Amino acid sequence: MKNKLKRKTTIIAGPCAAESREQVLTAIKNAKERSVDFVRISLWKPRTKPGFDGLGKKGIPLLIEAVKRGVYPATEVLLPEHAKAIIKAVLPVLKNRKLLLWIGARNQNHHIQQEIARVASIDKRIFLMVKNQPWVDEKHWEGIIEHVLSGGISKDNLILCHRGFIPNGYNPLGLRNVPDYKMAMRIKVQTNLPMVFDPSHTGGSVPNVLKMFDQASKYNFDGCLVEVHHDPEHALTDAKQQLTWEQFDAQLKLYAKD
Ligand code: PEP
Ligand code: MN
Repeated sequence: MKNKLKRKTTIIAGPCAAESREQVLTAIKNAKERSVDFVRISLWKPRTKPGFDGLGKKGIPLLIEAVKRGVYPATEVLLPEHAKAIIKAVLPVLKNRKLLLWIGARNQNHHIQQEIARVASIDKRIFLMVKNQPWVDEKHWEGIIEHVLSGGISKDNLILCHRGFIPNGYNPLGLRNVPDYKMAMRIKVQTNLPMVFDPSHTGGSVPNVLKMFDQASKYNFDGCLVEVHHDPEHALTDAKQQLTWEQFDAQLKLYAKD
């Protein structure tokens, strides 16, 4: 765990969606070898159109397995019930490890945001990450943060994530979501909270994900949330934008500062 101690940033990496036990065990092994801070094991997937939307509750044992194998799990929760079910199952095995839950960009009901934050606030080993909303609106982004804080999550346990905004006009790279780095930096400074960057949901394709890593490295992000799959071509979700672990290695070097 050498890198982990040296790094000042938070690296969250793993597949877009947990698909099977074998796939998650491979992700755990790869994440562990690279000392990433949290492994993405996302159980509930917001989907634009109906399709595979995650393993849901039956994937919770995979989070337990991650903890038992010495990595910290991270997953999106769509509802307070999801957070409750995970916490009930994972806390008894968590010991001195951490659990990261996050609220995705499309989850813009402030009652749900507040309640997830309230549920997550019951234990200091639980961290909550919140992404910006899909449309460009700085006030709304500030509001999400105010809503989760009013739900009771401590600032020490809150991480922000910039995943870009729906393209509206200028988009020469054909990004899936266009970052506003300056806005992200304003929100980071104003809230005094760590801000990680999501090159996957901004980039939308492997070449663009690599460009996003490069662009974002010029700003003062506190880490990244990145989709990495052992066999991206056959991924059940976001196949176009997931890196292989080997592609990820080259990017990880950017964060290995001491
Ligand atoms: C995700 O990170 O899995 C995701 C669905 O992204 P977003 O909430 O940014 O759309
Ligand atoms: Mn995805």
